[in-house]
Amino acid sequence: MKKLLILMMASLIACPGILAQLQVAITIDDVPNTKAYNASLTLVRQLDQKKVPTAIFINESKLQFSKNQGFFANVGLLMHWGNPPYNTLGNHTYSHLRYSAVGYQAFTQDLVKGEEFTEKLAKKYHKKLRYFRFPYNDLGKDSSQHHQIVHYLQANNYILTPFTVESSDWMFNYLYEHYQKQGKPKEAQRIGNLYIQKTLEYFTFFEKMAMAQYKRPVRHIYLCHDNPLNADYIGLLLSKLRQRKYSFISLTKAMQDPVYQQTDVYYKKWGVSWMYRWMKDGKARSQLMKTEPDIMSVYQEYQKVLKAKH
Ligand SMILES: [Zn+2]
Repeated sequence: MKKLLILMMASLIACPGILAQLQVAITIDDVPNTKAYNASLTLVRQLDQKKVPTAIFINESKLQFSKNQGFFANVGLLMHWGNPPYNTLGNHTYSHLRYSAVGYQAFTQDLVKGEEFTEKLAKKYHKKLRYFRFPYNDLGKDSSQHHQIVHYLQANNYILTPFTVESSDWMFNYLYEHYQKQGKPKEAQRIGNLYIQKTLEYFTFFEKMAMAQYKRPVRHIYLCHDNPLNADYIGLLLSKLRQRKYSFISLTKAMQDPVYQQTDVYYKKWGVSWMYRWMKDGKARSQLMKTEPDIMSVYQEYQKVLKAKH
């Protein structure tokens, strides 16, 4: 009996999820995907139906895309995203520029341009536009560019939005759309299932990293995109996370976790997780990055398809 008790205690320590509730905020970038209008509508409807609080990061330039539905229909799509009371609005710049490439002047101009319609939307839904997320999570090519923009955001009452978990869903989506257009649903399905498998592996990876660094689970922020892949697979992903005892919280609640008060000391342009950016030891950071879940085969497949197209 004593032995059994010890075994049970050991398994509880090994699986922290049993002891502490896991929490994650879902955040979606590049909203509204007017090029995949119906998929975008499907995605927002599912999240809305499940009442999953979602923070959305908007590129207003997408409202101008006219091939599918036209401007007013595009605005209608964005209103679907902005309307749910538990959805948070965020600015993702007007035209999705890379900060390290265009520099401070052009970037801040594009950022302000990206507020115009979203501010109106926020007012209509009695919300505030407080969150900003960098396209590509590119915070500048060096520490001076980095500090300059962080200061700008603070001075303009913006909250810089981090993330802890992402799984390159954009790359999986590229292949997913490609196979769908080619009339290869089985290939598309293979990519979809691989996306779920790898995303869960990434969650495990960052859960373990949180336990190693903070000795407790942290409130995670998952980053993904408004795309057809998520339109078809978000339900499965959410149910898998629920099985792991995750609950879905707002971005604001996630950011109340003290881990988000730490300083980002990563001064390169790459869009890495904030779990790495808080690490002061650059060598240890690089070592850890090498132990991430392996998605090389997907990357190679993506490169192959990309090359064949050009
Ligand atoms: Zn983006």
